[in-house]
Amino acid sequence: MRKPIIAGNWKMNKTASEAKAFAEAVKNAIPSNDAVDSVIGAPALFLETLVTEAKGTDLKIAAQNSYWENEGAFTGETSPAALADLGVDYVIIGHSERREYFHETDQEINKKAKAIFANNMTPILCCGESLETYEANQTADWIETQITAGLEGLTAEQVSAMVIAYEPIWAIGTGKSADATIADTICGVVRQTVEKLYGKEVSEAVRIQYGGSVKPENIAEYMAKENVDGALVGGASLQADSFLALLDAVK
Ligand code: PEP
Repeated sequence: MRKPIIAGNWKMNKTASEAKAFAEAVKNAIPSNDAVDSVIGAPALFLETLVTEAKGTDLKIAAQNSYWENEGAFTGETSPAALADLGVDYVIIGHSERREYFHETDQEINKKAKAIFANNMTPILCCGESLETYEANQTADWIETQITAGLEGLTAEQVSAMVIAYEPIWAIGTGKSADATIADTICGVVRQTVEKLYGKEVSEAVRIQYGGSVKPENIAEYMAKENVDGALVGGASLQADSFLALLDAVK
């Protein structure tokens, strides 16, 4: 049995005081991590505050990006070693907004995955297709290509331990969530790709999230599906009551 994992992605939202207020509001209500892994992905500026607030609770903190080198002349980048030192557990990589606006490639995302593992954190590797690709019926091929490139050179042990998020770009922040059957089918494509590359045991261990306009009202539909082990949630993770309602729905 794979343990569900719900991860909020705040994107570039909140101030430090708002982030602290959120943590104070949720920290005593986080369900046991025997039942669900609860994660907040916050801007790098607030990670230290959130890690401090989350100490002693089952809330885990994710960065939304990192560089692949631990140190050096890379002005403006965030070191994975520094994230690990802060107590960050997860790093979201390859989000479609990073791919689109910051031109991140599969090869760069793969280097980030390796650096995150090298620093004993867990990557949440995002994949997903555009509306054009979806309408051209090319989603499965697109996802297989992204996953194959994103996992290149990772060990079976690493892939078993990581999280992959399937997020159709046309469903992110649009309120137009993918039908749960479609989400299950494409999360299944991710799993089959992992099976092709690493075998059945690894494909049955890796956790796969759906992301795209998930909210407390629709999360149960996704979680009921065989290949969906959790959700990566943007808008509905910003308010404490809504984030707790998402966790409540799966615990
Ligand atoms: C996301 O940010 O990854 C996301 C899925 O956003 P939303 O839930 O707002 O669609």
